[in-house]
Amino acid sequence: MKFLPVALTLAFTLTSVDAFSSIGKSLPSLIDIYCMGYSYYIQRTLGSDKWCRSFAYPHLFTVSPLPAFPNLGDVFKIVKEPCEKCSAVVVEAKVEQEGVSMYIGIDSDSYGHTNRPGNGGIRLLNYKTRESAIADAVRLAKGMTRKHDMFRTGFSGAKVVVKSDHKDLSVIQRRKLMQNVASALHAFEGGMYTGCDLNTSDRDMDYLVEATDEKYVLAGRNSQVDTNVATASSVIGSIIGTLQAMSGSDDISELIFTVQGCGKVGSTVAKELVRLGAKNVQTCDLFPESAKIQGCTPIKDWARTPCDFLVPCANSLAITEDVAANFPAGIKYCVGATNSPFANDKAREIFEKRGVMHIPESISSAGAILADSVEWYDIDLYQTVEPAKMYGWIRDISRVKASDLAAHAGQEPQHVTSNLSNVVPEREGEPVGKDFETWIEDNLSSTETLIIGGGLAGTATAFSLAEKGVNSTLVEQGSSIAPASASSNGDSRMYRKMYSSEFFSKMQSKALDRWADVERKSGSSLLQENGLLFYGEDTSETVEGSVLGALKVMERLGLPHKFYATGDDIANAYPALESCRGKPYSGVCEDTAGHIRASKACEAMAKAAGDKCDVKLNSKIVSLNTNGEGGKVVAVTEDGKTIKADNCVISCGPWTNDVLDLAGLPRLNLDIWQVQWGHYEVSEEASASIPQAFHFRKENGIDGGLYYVFPSSATESIQNGGKSYVKVGVDFPTGHALADMSSFNYQGSEEVLKLIDEWVEEHLPSVGKRIDSYCSPYTMTKDSYFVMDKLADNVAVFSGGSGRAFKFGPLLGDCVASLLTGEKAPVDLAPFSAKRAASLSSPEVGQAVVA
Ligand SMILES: Cc1cc2nc3c(=O)[nH]c(=O)nc-3n(C[C@H](O)[C@H](O)[C@H](O)COP(=O)(O)OP(=O)(O)OC[C@H]3O[C@@H](n4cnc5c(N)ncnc54)[C@H](O)[C@@H]3O)c2cc1C
Repeated sequence: MKFLPVALTLAFTLTSVDAFSSIGKSLPSLIDIYCMGYSYYIQRTLGSDKWCRSFAYPHLFTVSPLPAFPNLGDVFKIVKEPCEKCSAVVVEAKVEQEGVSMYIGIDSDSYGHTNRPGNGGIRLLNYKTRESAIADAVRLAKGMTRKHDMFRTGFSGAKVVVKSDHKDLSVIQRRKLMQNVASALHAFEGGMYTGCDLNTSDRDMDYLVEATDEKYVLAGRNSQVDTNVATASSVIGSIIGTLQAMSGSDDISELIFTVQGCGKVGSTVAKELVRLGAKNVQTCDLFPESAKIQGCTPIKDWARTPCDFLVPCANSLAITEDVAANFPAGIKYCVGATNSPFANDKAREIFEKRGVMHIPESISSAGAILADSVEWYDIDLYQTVEPAKMYGWIRDISRVKASDLAAHAGQEPQHVTSNLSNVVPEREGEPVGKDFETWIEDNLSSTETLIIGGGLAGTATAFSLAEKGVNSTLVEQGSSIAPASASSNGDSRMYRKMYSSEFFSKMQSKALDRWADVERKSGSSLLQENGLLFYGEDTSETVEGSVLGALKVMERLGLPHKFYATGDDIANAYPALESCRGKPYSGVCEDTAGHIRASKACEAMAKAAGDKCDVKLNSKIVSLNTNGEGGKVVAVTEDGKTIKADNCVISCGPWTNDVLDLAGLPRLNLDIWQVQWGHYEVSEEASASIPQAFHFRKENGIDGGLYYVFPSSATESIQNGGKSYVKVGVDFPTGHALADMSSFNYQGSEEVLKLIDEWVEEHLPSVGKRIDSYCSPYTMTKDSYFVMDKLADNVAVFSGGSGRAFKFGPLLGDCVASLLTGEKAPVDLAPFSAKRAASLSSPEVGQAVVA
């Protein structure tokens, strides 16, 4: 220890040298001495390493000597040394262009260490002063250390801060700048890795990769992993983990979320919250267009709009003391992607005192550095892995960490900070990135049949396969069977034999027997007989058939029915339809028709499949290989789980082509209609006389003419103080048919709603005001026949329900199951071929069979 005083003197002399060139080639030995001196300096100041405990996760902090950098003198000057209050070193690196300077903040223990290098992105800003840039480099590097330590990524904190004197950042010569960054990285010899941050882009990374010879850049290179989605995954995982710890449930459906900032991360978080079942997701962005996200409600002022859960995904320091104190009552949680969301500790404490549980961004926004950890420790895996597996892993470990922290804090927001060190792993040990491969293996399951989609078709197939003793796994992207976004959701679907096509009429008879099986095996009452009246003018055949076409089939098949030859006959039989009087109408009624409790029926079929079917909710398939090893189907869910199966059923309704795309299978010729409906209040007395009915009228502009009404006995989920409601909807699309669901508007159109309101006013005058409205998808084929076929030896598909599939549910399940088991199908499947002209492009089976 004798040499230490000398080392110290030399060290401080050295650090005051203010020129790159003044340190010559003999530098290494001097720097060695400096480093020893620095180590001594720390020890001396602290007396022990206890001092370090006051910041970061210091019980893990080990003081190690700063190593030497052979190129230090050529490339850097040290502009900030570690001091009593701050462990970070900042060096200024050479930049060869006017008005631009670069500061690299490295948290001291990683300074020059290749075994635990510094890691942090490149931030480019128009800082006002050199001091503010240096201060930011320190703040950000230390923040990065907290993140890296939190998960033991194998890195320590660092940041490259580029100060531009130009407000207009576009004048900066990026390639040149990246070459300078590369020189700095080379000089660190593996002691520092970097990637994108504010105002640096993939293009910059391309320059940097070129200039570093692909070294020292962790930016998702040559991989499909998107670091923004990785970050969003840690936000989602932390949200779920927080809720699990705080409320014992991860049900987000009734919570009101505000996602502040809808850039790449925020928008991904918002969409995912919607998919996971959140009904109330408010979005806010400086650019109002960015806040328009399917299923979300844009708001103007995030700080003044009440919510349960604030998800900051925008600018740092936005939650000021004022915002925290005046945020509307009711807020319970704050978890997001923003680094340093609070303007200062006081602001955070105000939230804490108000009982707002905040999970620090060292957990909730660590996604990108977790990906970095894999990129650094297993580059081959990183470059070849399905991104969803990476996102799923990140979500999972963030969930566990957030949940652990909230539990350690005893669910008390004020105890979060003091408990952070309890969830930080020891610094010694394998980096987290090395766990990823094991996680993938632990999250792999196998089954006989993978059923993708938990609407009518998927659940019916599971039911049928279970009866045949076949094991299946049913994956549903939504948070429930038949989720609200699907075609199968709701209280009611009509069943009827009254078709203009004998084929469908006969199919209904067979299907009713199978519905009886479902009711018996599930112990649920699913079908209710209300009768059904077809009435209206002579429209000729429509997508729903016609009054006279249905009459003919009823007569031909000898099915019981009543016929009304005039509008007066209808008005006399149904007083609620008085408006038919005097009109050139006819009607036909099938007394044994009724409604099926739609969502309940899907649940019942899944339930009746029992332990033969493993139902996985919130499990969106994002990758599908139908020709995996050994001819197996290999699918990956959005939360990173791998499912292997002998064969699979694609029963994804309006999302069918998206899933076919994933598998590289040919698309089907499907159109998606946006169909609207709503509930109307009605007095108990009036409701008794309103039948289940279908009104046929001729098309007139945007009014497609076809309207239906369900009686109050078919609206059981609408409960409101003993009042009664009828359901009214249209059987024509809002606007043009869509090719996929990306632009589907679940709000529907005001114009069509107006049409429905006017129809009710004119045709059901006893009915009161509308209390809600919905827009749901129909998946239409060109000939209104479904698609039920095999697309490959191990792939069956059901799609194109064409607004009529529900009534045939369990029978369709039998048909799809038979495609996989090789048994004879219960109905002729030829009209449902995927190879028929109507399901490809030109209508051959075509219009003649529209029923
Ligand atoms: C308003 C309305 C009224 C109707 N009225 C009647 C009627 O009176 N009588 C009648 O017989 N029929 C009626 N229909 C038609 C019938 O409801 C549909 O044909 C039927 O429900 C379609 O079921 P499906 O399983 O094909 O599709 P869906 O119910 O849409 O199910 C597809 C499922 O796949 C899931 N999914 C999609 N992609 C993925 C993925 N990548 N990973 C995991 N899961 C995924 C979706 O979330 C969805 O739950 C009506 C339809 C609507 C919309």
